[in-house]
Amino acid sequence: MASSPTVLMRLVASAYSIAQKAGTIVRRVIAEGDLGIVEKTCATDLQTKADRLAQMSICSSLARKFPKLTIIGEEDLPFEEVDQELIEDGQWEEILQQPCPSQYSAIKEEDLVVWVDPLDGTKEYTEGLLDNVTVLIGIAYEGKAIAGVINQPYYNYQNNEKQKLREHRNEAKAGPDAVLGRTIWGVLGLGAFGFQLKEVPAGKHIITTTRSHNNKLVTDCVTAMNPDDVLRVGGAGNKIIQLIEGKASAYVFASPGCKKWDTCAPEVILHAVGGKLTDIHGNALQYNKEVKHMNSAGVLATLRNYDYYASRVPESVKNALVP
Ligand code: AMP
Ligand code: MG
Ligand code: MG
Repeated sequence: MASSPTVLMRLVASAYSIAQKAGTIVRRVIAEGDLGIVEKTCATDLQTKADRLAQMSICSSLARKFPKLTIIGEEDLPFEEVDQELIEDGQWEEILQQPCPSQYSAIKEEDLVVWVDPLDGTKEYTEGLLDNVTVLIGIAYEGKAIAGVINQPYYNYQNNEKQKLREHRNEAKAGPDAVLGRTIWGVLGLGAFGFQLKEVPAGKHIITTTRSHNNKLVTDCVTAMNPDDVLRVGGAGNKIIQLIEGKASAYVFASPGCKKWDTCAPEVILHAVGGKLTDIHGNALQYNKEVKHMNSAGVLATLRNYDYYASRVPESVKNALVP
């Protein structure tokens, strides 16, 4: 008889269902039309009703099932009783049936730290660039990111719009293209699932970087890498998806601004398929509960050829970014 799932696998299975629920909240807020935008530190650092509701849903759902977890969410919210309608109790069955990597089988609930970005790419969300948006739930143990879930609520958004048009014209019936949203998950030592791994053509250097938090350091660093192409898109989750789906070869962000909840889940997905994410100096990021939230020394991530990019970070950029 199969043994019962470990704490880690039960947590990942819950995080999967909870991230899906958060994705439906993100879509619902747009559909209802009132984004309730609040400026946090400045005009490019925003919070919407979707960020607030999704965080309440994720954190309360996790805390009910796993009361001893440490959960760190991006948004600073006043404590309030969460509506039952926001609670997700499900656990993705397929994950419960996967074996837990042996090095994690004895982990206890109280040893885990969960980093939650309820809506990554908020600026783009408010501008209608909906496929940039992701929901991120990252799980860390002994300071290391070991498991993660990324929900992309508007995956297939463009196909979906085209499909609706076809249906409207009574043309083709809904195909698999029409399914809106997807969930990617991964555990170190087990793998990453929910997408098709693809690499950028050999020899091509395509850099993905910020579109709404650009500055001279970011540009200097990108330029020094002599890229064939530069993509400017929103969201840390979105940029890691570009790396694993062969759209970009490096994610370069030579600036503070990105936080632990932005990188935890995406880092796991990338590492689970053999990629590498570090700060701009090449240091691994730490995810223990006491760590400062800001990734002050930026982010450098690749699926392959990490050394090509790391070796081209200018000294002037390194000197400006203190870990
Ligand atoms: P971006 O690539 O600009 O979408 O940034 C990735 C993540 O880091 C998003 O969650 C951003 O909100 C966050 N971020 C990056 N730079 C800043 C900044 N200067 N201020 C606030 N958040 C930032
Ligand atoms: Mg974010
Ligand atoms: Mg966010």
